[in-house]
Amino acid sequence: MATLQSSVIGFPRVGAQRELKKLIEGFWAGKQTEADLLHGAQALRAKHWQLQRDRGIDQIPVGDFSLYDTVLDTAFLFNAVPQRYQTIPRGLAQYFAMGRGLQGAHPTTGNKVDVPAMEMKKWFDTNYHFIVPEVTADQTFTLSDDPAIVAHLREAQALGITAKPVLLGPVSFLLLSKATGTGGAAAASSTDEFERLSLLPRLLPEYVKLLALLAEAGATNVQIDEPFLGMDFFVGMAEAYRTAYDYLAVDLPASLRLILTTYFERVNNCLDLIKRLPVHGLHIDLVRSPDQIKAALDAVPADWILSLGVINGRNIWKADLNATLDVVRKVVAQRGPERTWVATSCSLLHCPFSLEFEATLDPEIKDWLAFATEKLDELRVLAVAGASADTAGLDAQVIAVLEANRQSHAARRSSSRVVNPLVQDRLALVTPDMRRRATPFNDRYPQQRAAQRLPLFPTTTIGSFPQTKEVRQARLKFKRGDLTADAYDDFLRRETERCVRLQEDIGLDVLVHGEFERNDMVEYFGEKLRGYVFTANGWVSSYGTRCVKPPIIYGDVDRPNPMTVDWSLYAQSLTPKPMKGMLTGPVTCLQWSFVRDDQDRSVTANQLALAIRDEVNDLEKAGIRTIQIDEPAIREGLPLRHSDWNDYLEWAVDAFLLSSCSVQDITQIHTHMCYSDFNDIFPAIQRMDADVITIENSRSDLKLLRAFDRYGYHNASGPGLYDIHSPRVPSVQEMNERLAALLEYLPYQLIWLNPDCGLKTRGWPEVESSLRNLTATAAEFRRRY
Ligand code: GLN
Ligand code: ZN
Repeated sequence: MATLQSSVIGFPRVGAQRELKKLIEGFWAGKQTEADLLHGAQALRAKHWQLQRDRGIDQIPVGDFSLYDTVLDTAFLFNAVPQRYQTIPRGLAQYFAMGRGLQGAHPTTGNKVDVPAMEMKKWFDTNYHFIVPEVTADQTFTLSDDPAIVAHLREAQALGITAKPVLLGPVSFLLLSKATGTGGAAAASSTDEFERLSLLPRLLPEYVKLLALLAEAGATNVQIDEPFLGMDFFVGMAEAYRTAYDYLAVDLPASLRLILTTYFERVNNCLDLIKRLPVHGLHIDLVRSPDQIKAALDAVPADWILSLGVINGRNIWKADLNATLDVVRKVVAQRGPERTWVATSCSLLHCPFSLEFEATLDPEIKDWLAFATEKLDELRVLAVAGASADTAGLDAQVIAVLEANRQSHAARRSSSRVVNPLVQDRLALVTPDMRRRATPFNDRYPQQRAAQRLPLFPTTTIGSFPQTKEVRQARLKFKRGDLTADAYDDFLRRETERCVRLQEDIGLDVLVHGEFERNDMVEYFGEKLRGYVFTANGWVSSYGTRCVKPPIIYGDVDRPNPMTVDWSLYAQSLTPKPMKGMLTGPVTCLQWSFVRDDQDRSVTANQLALAIRDEVNDLEKAGIRTIQIDEPAIREGLPLRHSDWNDYLEWAVDAFLLSSCSVQDITQIHTHMCYSDFNDIFPAIQRMDADVITIENSRSDLKLLRAFDRYGYHNASGPGLYDIHSPRVPSVQEMNERLAALLEYLPYQLIWLNPDCGLKTRGWPEVESSLRNLTATAAEFRRRY
């Protein structure tokens, strides 16, 4: 029986047990030779290709594998190596120096070197980070003599697998780059973008050479990723796509078919452009944007491949195979089965490897999930069933799978684990006044200052204090059962007390307990909320070899018991100074988890908000009068298209307000954000109406402050006085100067002094010295004002 082709856009490279991480880190530590590393990586690639083949995948990607990052690989492939790495001979040493910097002995001369890494940025709206290529106005590109992707293609072929090479397209490659020498960091403006695209004529001949090599090595379909087709266009962008693909078409080997691949956003607005490009297929993300199928069907030429990205590469839920099948069949009815592919929506890089390793996961919930390996099976079923017009004529086995899938979804929909009527009723009763402080800032702030006896230029920290080796070891021992709960608790209390005493001694005004009991700012709360579940092995790549294990929100969220009150009360009992309660906000909890796909994100955010509101109320009842609700992720939740920003900011800020507005006038709400670059969302930050916002700012010069000025931000704020990302101790002089600069933009009555982020990654000695200098700065300015 005919089947459709199934296609994988990319596969998680780190391996079922994070083998690649171990290999690479072993190599960095000098425990593995380069040969071991290369050999191990090859074996892992082979394993992943074979796994995909065994699961019935037709279009298996090569070129999705990387020792650090695939964007870095592309820069390396075309020899776009910034000058500062050029003394290091080409090879792994140079490659890793670009990805993570090199400090120590030069690999050939043995001299001391210290080159920083290239910049890292979030990959669109995922939590994966890529290395930002650097290009200069006189940039040249030269295809590597021995392109890794060609070698990988041959490796796959030796295993009998005709794989599909995956390339980052030339336009998206340049748009991901930053122009250096022309004010690099500000590369986001469209004029810069235009400049980068002017490098296309130099880059394209190298792509042509590469395509020729791929054809020679036996490739047929080539996946060419142009995710920027889904983003906002600016002047010159459409022209760049035309230039690029017209150029590639001229000498394209007859055996090759280019499949233009988009993901993370809709492309319906540029289908007119796309359909005129001389390519052979289009992949669209129908999970993110199911509605674009209609426009795509109308636009995509009949002789192209239309690749339907229907299996979610970014989340962990089982697909609704029966509903998806309806969509696939409609497409097949219109276009026929030969040129219709079923595919993952984007790379499976953003999914954990396999459910097979989740022995302790609740079986009811486990039945609702599909990780990367299970998603291969889903694709296969769609490929088989999608080709026939109805299910009745299918193989009994396929029918059984579809039926089981239907039952699993029905069970999930009606499970009492998912639906909690109490939570839903509560949410339905939320009124606008629950999202509003009773009194305007100008009236409540003086009350707060009086109640807490706050001086001018009050000093505080962002929450965490050093998570030393001892702290991490104690936690590990406790988790393993080598330390009793009582002993662990005693240990944490001693750490907390030490931290409080030190803050008193330093003379800080608003103290924190130090967060020693927390592993991570979302996991800690997730473990205490209902509706969350944790995996044993659900690792996904974050950057380089680093992986994260996001918790899963599967059901209506609520807070059965207070989460932080005991720690805050204990810390408060040690000191007469104000103790700041410390919570993670609803949007950050949402952003850093795998979230439900059966309700709008905004609903989940509001449920989280109610849970945090309960905690805020309990802290207040217990006498805690300063409460910080961290929202470092609010900016990164911004949609990729500008036109979608307002909707998001509306509900995201609403969720924050719901979590924070129940308190009395004298209770002071703080929030903290990490990204300095939020000029563009300032009105939303104002609407959050936190009494005090502390922000990472020390690396952003005065850009942020100008925004404060421009928007007339009128609540109190603490733009970080120094950068905690380095062990350097800032001098009093430096902090004085910084504060003086802040005072040009902000009224002195509303400024707080604090570091720019939590101190968990720092050591005690530098923390102590830095904070002593910070309080010295406060003392100096109190004298002056
Ligand atoms: N309160 C948290 C801490 O200090 C905030 C962390 C963050 O900004 N990401 O660690
Ligand atoms: Zn921060």
